Amino acid sequence: MGEIGFERRQQTARFHNPLKGGEVDEQEIEVRVDPLMRHQSIFNAALSDKTSILFPPTDKEYLEQRAEETKPQCFLCDGKWRQMTPHYPQTILPEGRLVKNDVVLFPNLFPLAAHHAVVMLGDEHFRPLNEFPASMIADALSVSLQFIQRCYRADPGAVHFTINANYLFPAGSSVLHPHLQILGSPFAGTHERTLLENSRRYFEEQGSCYWLDLAATEKRMQDRWLGELQGTCWFTAYAPLGVNEVNAITPDARTFLDWGDAEINGMAQGMAKTLDTYFHLDFSTFNFSCYSAPLPGENPGFRCLLRLINRQNVAPHYRADDYYFQKLLGNEIIIHTPEHLASVLRKQF
Ligand SMILES: [Zn+2]
Repeated sequence: MGEIGFERRQQTARFHNPLKGGEVDEQEIEVRVDPLMRHQSIFNAALSDKTSILFPPTDKEYLEQRAEETKPQCFLCDGKWRQMTPHYPQTILPEGRLVKNDVVLFPNLFPLAAHHAVVMLGDEHFRPLNEFPASMIADALSVSLQFIQRCYRADPGAVHFTINANYLFPAGSSVLHPHLQILGSPFAGTHERTLLENSRRYFEEQGSCYWLDLAATEKRMQDRWLGELQGTCWFTAYAPLGVNEVNAITPDARTFLDWGDAEINGMAQGMAKTLDTYFHLDFSTFNFSCYSAPLPGENPGFRCLLRLINRQNVAPHYRADDYYFQKLLGNEIIIHTPEHLASVLRKQF
């Protein structure tokens, strides 16, 4: 068992500030470096007063109006998915689609990988983030895992799967109706490949699993630790890749094929709790990705990992939260410190 070290660097910016009567202003900038991936996340306490400029509150009236305007054309609402969504061939899913209570899995019409499914999350066209029940998320994860097993059986070369979500248009979603996306491919995606390579290198050098060491270190330190929920461990990311990043790992599951009821229910409960807290922090959108080691899964150095983040809030003419700093320089800005976020979220866990 290794102890994870958390590296941070300091810089100071100096300038005459007209907001302070032209006095010399000194602003301390903290640069956090992710222990495994080495990406950087930047915190400037002066920005905390600017949160409402960087992330203006959701315009609830506008959001409800967008929901009403898009509902009549929605191909998922009112059972329209039965006629309007594609279905899988016999060789992959003899049923065509997977249905569990009010979640439905079907193929993406415009796939980005050999296996690219969409999971409709319930019948409601629009849900605020405090209305994503754990039971519905568990059903969605359950059909996602069933799909992954079936794809792998039909196409054993497809070993790289991720479970993902975009919620609302500032988060990249073209369909407002809540849904997940599962991608399955013979190749690892860019971030997934780097995660796997760095995890393998850590295992070879340290003789232990980075993700188990990270969870143990976070649990001991408590600063970012949220808790354990049925087969999952939860904490906030030391160097987040997006706003309010929350992470979960599955200590007993290296790949999606290892997931049982504990992983499904623990992951669903933690997601519902996190989304509810995001709602109370006045955020309205999210992205997540859940990663697995390649199937069927030797990989002692990896455990399934969830990254869940907020995106820009819904408002007319909203400003993207992803610009050169994130997209081309590969850095992220910290709005709420991960330690503060954990102190708020911990009450829910
Ligand atoms: Zn709909």
